[in-house]
Amino acid sequence: MNPSSQSSSRPFEQLSAQSGLGCGPVALAPLARRYGTPLYVYSADQIVERLKLFQEAFASRDHLVCYAVKANSALAILKLLAAHGAGFDIVSGGELERVRAAAPDALARVVFSGVGKTAAEIDLALRANILEFNVESEAELELLAARAAKLKRKARFALRVNPDVFAETHPYISTGLREHKFGIDIGRARALYRKAAGNPWLIPHGISVHIGSQIRSADPFGAAVDRVARLVRQLERDDIQLASIDAGGGLGIDYHGGHFDAAAKVSEYASAIDKALGSFKGRLMLEPGRFIVAQAGALVTQVLQVKRTGKKTFVITDAAMNDLIRPALYQAHHDIVPLTPRKGKPRQVDVVGPVCESGDFFARDRVLPPVQPGEYLALLDAGAYGLAQSSNYNTRLRPAEVLVEGKRARLIRRRETIADLLVPEIP
Ligand SMILES: *Cc1c(COP(=O)(O)O)cnc(C)c1O
Repeated sequence: MNPSSQSSSRPFEQLSAQSGLGCGPVALAPLARRYGTPLYVYSADQIVERLKLFQEAFASRDHLVCYAVKANSALAILKLLAAHGAGFDIVSGGELERVRAAAPDALARVVFSGVGKTAAEIDLALRANILEFNVESEAELELLAARAAKLKRKARFALRVNPDVFAETHPYISTGLREHKFGIDIGRARALYRKAAGNPWLIPHGISVHIGSQIRSADPFGAAVDRVARLVRQLERDDIQLASIDAGGGLGIDYHGGHFDAAAKVSEYASAIDKALGSFKGRLMLEPGRFIVAQAGALVTQVLQVKRTGKKTFVITDAAMNDLIRPALYQAHHDIVPLTPRKGKPRQVDVVGPVCESGDFFARDRVLPPVQPGEYLALLDAGAYGLAQSSNYNTRLRPAEVLVEGKRARLIRRRETIADLLVPEIP
């Protein structure tokens, strides 16, 4: 790929012919040699920049950006975001423990989402005195009330409503239609708030929506918040005052290189939401995940072999679907760039990993400059749902992670060892 076609929305740019691709000013090849591959590298500067885009776009109203931990749950990244005022959207007790480990003060800024919370997870969150439970069913509301009464701790809750809004994205990450498993039918919500208002252990605190992920247009966000804001006005007539509206996450990025203006995207998103909120004076909460971390990260991998079979050329890398499953799971596209561009005629190749599955590919029929065994490639825009969705399939060790802060790079997760993997097993 031509380096000039990379937009400044990515922190990965060619530094010079010798240094090759860098993350900010830090060359990637020396990091790959030092820490080994596959290796995730993230730009702290871009992560903070993206958080600030949201915070500044909503500066004129009371707001809280709760980063969706599931997108990338590295402790160092959670700590960084907490230091810049972020709250967190969690979907499990495990993610709560990550927030506690990274930034215990931020527990007061945690919202707990998810369709299947266990009693143990609810207890953990009640004891941690999190900001809000985003409740996804009537049965869950009953369970929350029961646990709150048992622990004698009041629970602030929001109903996650399903606004029945269609958002154009991959079917696996679309969540805002009535046919999806997420949320409570918006028509049922009013009755549930009225019922909960009579329970001494439940505090009706907010209302939330999340219509899916990797949504590129601002319109569906506006439509969803508009429906929610209407319901908030109805509830006010019932004397139920909600302190917050949570617009969820889901703002998408552009995985294909070229120009991507992140600031313009956020400002378009912010005006759609602002308009839909109308006269609402409470707090706006947001749960962006991907938009904050995706473009800040790359997965660096080494070419093991170049294999020709029939008409096809396969570039076999030491990274595989267990390290980054998005291409296999969502047919997702990641731009692939050699760390040191090589002269020669570009060739059409498949870039694949060594895992024993035909679905183990990163790119099919991709035109790349000639690559040789031993050289490094970067899979771009891998900061979100990369390591977070990795596994040990084929008993492969999960990659190390490096965070680049200004001119410095530091290891934030060491590569796993076989000993790590075998610990829980009983032969
Ligand atoms: C996954 C998720 C998010 C984050 O989605 P992104 O597309 O990464 O912004 C936010 N809120 C909820 C409830 C989620 O499930």
